[in-house]
Amino acid sequence: MLEVSELDAWYGDARALWGVSLTVGAGETVSIIGPNGAGKSTIVAAIAGLHPSVRGQVTVDDEDVLRLPAHRVCARGVAIVPEGRRVFGSMSVHENLVLGAYRRGVRERYRRTMAGVLELFPRLAARSAQPAGTLSGGEQQMLAIGRALMADPRLLLLDEPSLGLAPVVLDEVFAAIGAINARGVSVLLVEQDIDRALEISTRGYLLIEGRIVAGAPAAELRDREDVRRGILGL
Ligand code: ATP
Repeated sequence: MLEVSELDAWYGDARALWGVSLTVGAGETVSIIGPNGAGKSTIVAAIAGLHPSVRGQVTVDDEDVLRLPAHRVCARGVAIVPEGRRVFGSMSVHENLVLGAYRRGVRERYRRTMAGVLELFPRLAARSAQPAGTLSGGEQQMLAIGRALMADPRLLLLDEPSLGLAPVVLDEVFAAIGAINARGVSVLLVEQDIDRALEISTRGYLLIEGRIVAGAPAAELRDREDVRRGILGL
């Protein structure tokens, strides 16, 4: 359903991506793994319409979305969970979730969508009135994912959900991503936590210095020593 082809990106004069091509099929979870600064966040930002300095092609269900404004990409069923969560700290959990359902067509059925999100993250249900800024890191990550789900996406872009989380919370967050995928949402996951990412993925891509250097079934990537070396710099 997602096809990225020959994607280049810049920050001013500095090049961040070189001819990145990748696909996510309907119902798949696909990971982009790679070290710090490889360009992983730039890829998801470009897909979501949040990075204007790009060249190439990005299609969602064969429709070109590159350079569409972010809200129009969202209207085509793509939602992003940005790196660092970016929840609205002074607003309640409930208000943050409602904000995720701003797009037309989704607003009308937001109660049903909300029930699905709270079923997935019971911790959020218990903290509905609490200011989001007072949640733990893991709970904020759950809220950021829940807020993206409120847009009822067919494709969810997740930018490093593991960032700064303790192992026990990570288990919960990754189990939730698996459950979201099982509900029929395709997932593109950007991660540095290779093992957790590949465990829930069908396929993965290794990105080094703005270039895809490997793309393979997740199990194959997990066993490759050069992948670990590429990411961990061993
Ligand atoms: P991380 O895992 O650390 O988030 P990443 O793989 O997501 O890294 P990006 O954040 O996409 O990498 O960055 C790719 C490259 O673009 C890096 O060299 C980074 O320094 C550069 N870059 C990112 N944001 C900007 C910016 N706002 N201005 C200039 N350069 C940037």
